[in-house]
Amino acid sequence: MRLRDVGEVGFLRSVQEALGGSGGAVRVGIGDDAAVIECPAGECLVLTCDAAVEGRHFRREWLSPSEIGGRAVRCALSDFAAMGARPAAVLLTLVVSPAEEATMAQVLVKGAAQAAEAYGARLVGGETVGNQGPLTLDVVAAGFVPVGRELRRSGAGVGDALLVSGTLGDSAAGLAALEAMGVRGDFEAVIARYIRPEPRTSLGALLAECEGVRAAIDISDGLVRDAGHLAEQSGVGIVVLAEALPLSPECRAAAERLSLDPLQWALAGGEDFELLFAADAERAAEIVELAQREAGVTVTVIGEVVEGRGVTVVREDGAEIVPPSIGWDQFAD
Ligand SMILES: [Mg+2]
Repeated sequence: MRLRDVGEVGFLRSVQEALGGSGGAVRVGIGDDAAVIECPAGECLVLTCDAAVEGRHFRREWLSPSEIGGRAVRCALSDFAAMGARPAAVLLTLVVSPAEEATMAQVLVKGAAQAAEAYGARLVGGETVGNQGPLTLDVVAAGFVPVGRELRRSGAGVGDALLVSGTLGDSAAGLAALEAMGVRGDFEAVIARYIRPEPRTSLGALLAECEGVRAAIDISDGLVRDAGHLAEQSGVGIVVLAEALPLSPECRAAAERLSLDPLQWALAGGEDFELLFAADAERAAEIVELAQREAGVTVTVIGEVVEGRGVTVVREDGAEIVPPSIGWDQFAD
C-alpha cells in the first residue's frame, strides 16, 4: 500500500504505535502537539540538526530504509559526542513522495527510532511532507550537558597533544568500495562503517568530565578539514604525524584491492564520526588508558598543537604531505 492510500493520519498512527510514548526524560512523547522533555538540574540544553538527502548523502541501492533512518540519526548524534553531551530526544522530518510504499516509510522511521534508543535518546515526534523529489530526512536532536562542561572547538593550547578515537578512513573506504562495485556484497567491514557510523557519545561524555581535555570536534568533513576548524577556533596551528594515523586492517586491505591510497581516506575522506580532541600532553597517556577502560574506545595520539595557523601533515622524515582534496565542502562542485 502506498502512502497516498494510507494517508497522513494513518501513517502517523502506524508510526506512533511502533514508537510508544513517554519515559525517561520524556514527559510527553510522540502524539501530542509538541514533546515535553524534563531538563535535569544543573545541565544545559544542547541542540543540533542534520539533514540527509537521497543522492547527496545516501543511495537507495546501498542502504535499506531502516539503515537510511538509522544513519541520519547516528550522524546527528555525533555532534553531541563532540560537545560531550548526552542525547535525550530526536525529531524527524521526512519529505517523501506519496507514491512511496507506506512500509518503506514505516521501516525508515523505526530505524531512526532504534538508532536513537541505542544512544539513550527517544524519537519524540516529527513531521511528514508529501513531495516529489529526493527522499529527505531532517533530524533535530536535543540533549544535555552539565553547565560549563561542554567541549568546544576553541580551547586548544600550544603544546597540547592531538588525539583521535577509533580508526580513520573506513567510511571513505566503504563509500569507494560501493562506488567501485555498484552494489553491496563485498568489503562489508568498511561498508558497515559508512552505513552505521558510531557516534562516540560515551567517550564524549567521559572527555567532558576529564581534566586536561581542552577542545574537541567530530570528524564529519575529513580529518584535515575538521582539525582546521579546531585550529582556527583555538587560534593555533596543528601538526599531524602521518605514520601515527590509526588505519584499520580492513581499510588498508580495501585500499590495496582498489589500488587507492588509504592515507588520503584518513586525511580527507570524511564521515568517520570519530572524535578529534586536544588535551594536556602530560595527561595524554592517562586519557588514552581511561578511554579504553571506561568507554571501550581506542584513542591514539596523532599530533600536537603548535604556534601558528592551519594544519600541517608531516611524515616521520619531516616531508610534508599535501592532501589533494581537503574534505567535504557542501557548496563545492
Ligand atoms: Mg560536527
